[in-house]
Amino acid sequence: MIRRIDRLQTELPPPSDPDPDGAAAVQELMGGRFGEMSTLMNYTMQSFNFRGRQKARPFYDLVANIAAEEYGHIELVAATINTMLTGAGEGAAPDAALEGVKGVRNVQHFLAGGQGALLQDSMGRPWTGDYVFSSGDLVEDLTHNFFLETGARNNKLKVYEMCTHPAARALTGYLLVRGGVHQVAYARAIELLTGADLMKMFPSPRIPTELIPECRPHIDRGEHLRLYRFSPEDYLELTAVFRGPHPETGEDLVVVDDAPEGAPAHDLPPQTAVFAPDYAPEEIAEIAVRLRREAGLSDEPSGVVASTPGSRGARKATGGRPAAKKAAAAKPAAKTTAAKTTAAKKPAARKPAAKGAKRS
Ligand code: MN
Ligand code: MN
Repeated sequence: MIRRIDRLQTELPPPSDPDPDGAAAVQELMGGRFGEMSTLMNYTMQSFNFRGRQKARPFYDLVANIAAEEYGHIELVAATINTMLTGAGEGAAPDAALEGVKGVRNVQHFLAGGQGALLQDSMGRPWTGDYVFSSGDLVEDLTHNFFLETGARNNKLKVYEMCTHPAARALTGYLLVRGGVHQVAYARAIELLTGADLMKMFPSPRIPTELIPECRPHIDRGEHLRLYRFSPEDYLELTAVFRGPHPETGEDLVVVDDAPEGAPAHDLPPQTAVFAPDYAPEEIAEIAVRLRREAGLSDEPSGVVASTPGSRGARKATGGRPAAKKAAAAKPAAKTTAAKTTAAKKPAARKPAAKGAKRS
């Protein structure tokens, strides 16, 4: 089973100038062969299909937890596409509110969806289960996963080059760092299982992440070293595989016993031209107020969203998790189970990589 946390894994900017053609390019990171749907469903299916998991527990725990993180990545890609599409069609039916977007690269964002993300690649082809490789052979699956993360990193770098929209840049900056961690995790697992030293292949593709400004804040926070354990009680054997030095920096890898703290999502405003969430969204809001009262709930929505200029009813983000949840979350977030727990808190202290392990 999985549990949900109503937060994004990282902060995204609010909507600015719409960029529907950029949103079409970002679709590659959702539904392309190397997109987040593929990483999510590859690791999910491999974990579902894992036989003899008790005796291979560290490897099972690794694949299952990276799968859980990828769920949050499809959420981030969707939020980015939705942000870039916000404001692209002005007005409402029966005016010609969508005439201005009839020539964009993917009109299905408006015709098949409500200015929302689709499970398609950048050319509008649907994501397919044919992109999932789950052979049952652990070495084969791990090797495939390393290749998949490498292709994913390649595509993120190209989307970064193609899209200067702030949301696309924030997304790719974060995902490049996290994808790097997954590459390292699978390489280390293969190394521990077979002795094959994939650590000599970093960075791959050979673009150092620290050259990318949108990656820097995440590296400074130590995100390039951390693997998150997405369960309060289970998957305790991650530390048996995710350990040792990072191949590029020499810093110790760290398992964090919680989900990332993340950030509240922006409450993206209704887009009435495509009836999202309705031609007259205020009617739904009035019904929700009545239902909330009948259920004995507060008139104020209980969820937390980032404050978005101009959006009605958006509650200001408190900067962290809601107070009640914060206390429970603070404890495990600070706790790390690596041998050297200081690694995540001192990102500036870089050791030089092992000789020959890094090209510059
Ligand atoms: Mn991912
Ligand atoms: Mn990944």
